[in-house]
Amino acid sequence: MHDIIIVGAGPAGLTAALYAKRADKSVLLIEKENFGGQITHSPKVENYPTLMQISGNELAQMMLDQVMEHGADIELAEVQGITDMGEFKRVSTDMGEFEAEAVIICSGSKHRQLGLENENDLIGKGVSYCAVCDGAFFAGTDIAIVGGGNTALQEAVMLSEYCSHVTVVQNLSYMTGEARLVSQLERRPNVTTVFDTLVTELIEDDKLEGIKLRNSKTGEESTLAVEGLFVAIGQKPENECFENITRLNEYGYIVADEGCLTDTEGIFVAGDCRTKAVRQITTACSDGAVAALAACRYIDSKK
Ligand SMILES: Cc1cc2nc3c(=O)[nH]c(=O)nc-3n(C[C@H](O)[C@H](O)[C@H](O)COP(=O)(O)OP(=O)(O)OC[C@H]3O[C@@H](n4cnc5c(N)ncnc54)[C@H](O)[C@@H]3O)c2cc1C
Repeated sequence: MHDIIIVGAGPAGLTAALYAKRADKSVLLIEKENFGGQITHSPKVENYPTLMQISGNELAQMMLDQVMEHGADIELAEVQGITDMGEFKRVSTDMGEFEAEAVIICSGSKHRQLGLENENDLIGKGVSYCAVCDGAFFAGTDIAIVGGGNTALQEAVMLSEYCSHVTVVQNLSYMTGEARLVSQLERRPNVTTVFDTLVTELIEDDKLEGIKLRNSKTGEESTLAVEGLFVAIGQKPENECFENITRLNEYGYIVADEGCLTDTEGIFVAGDCRTKAVRQITTACSDGAVAALAACRYIDSKK
């Protein structure tokens, strides 16, 4: 029996582990894939305070080292469900069952991808899923952004501030985001929008050189030279296995505010997997600290 089990070892889970260990709790951190989470896919991070530039892998390793230094237990396993046993919680995984007084869910989310052959190879070489994270690397260049929802529109407006030209590629014949953002975008002289269009190929010569497009109505094909492609077609949390223990919103995010409390006593949530406006490393770390201290208070209040 541990005091706290943390599900997921991204920035939120690693920070939660750090705070819980420093509060003298026993901690088991369970991760199914990559210690470090999404950030391990980022070759360059420039918005983590105090570090001018660092690779995502290096940052993740430093976070993990710090947690290990404080003596957290770790387990490589996939959590498949959590059961509320009253006095404690039982966490079922593909490597067996574990028990704790409190659980912090830090399962993150994944960016939806286009599903193109060389897409993964080009991450950090022109393909990005986050304009806030990577937009500045493309100042003065021609880029394209895929999507027509609020995130894509907001990111297109932001990118048009410093990129030479922005092409918005939308698969439907209309934008699904707010009209206010659409008209903001229409007023930008360096933005072109193409509707009913799909990205069919990423052209590369070690890094992204351009994209091939196909109009889904006419079948017409074209090529666009761009140095950057931002994919803003949504994120997907993987919270299905938690829906019996806590409430998810219509998009699958665990419903919680800045307090990181769920509807279930003893179950806390932190990072990209919860309902929130900004999904970044710093906000995930912030949640991790808040959730860990809330879990510590919960455990202490039962004594
Ligand atoms: C390519 C890329 C570049 C980015 N660049 C930046 C940047 O420059 N700056 C910035 O601030 N943000 C950046 N981000 C966003 C940032 O990485 C995320 O906001 C942050 O990692 C969220 O942290 P998290 O701990 O909430 O979730 P995640 O990092 O998603 O971690 C969740 C972890 O939980 C694990 N997990 C999920 N389900 C289970 C389960 N059932 N059992 C066990 N483990 C589970 C996952 O494997 C994962 O390791 C980038 C994201 C990507 C993809």
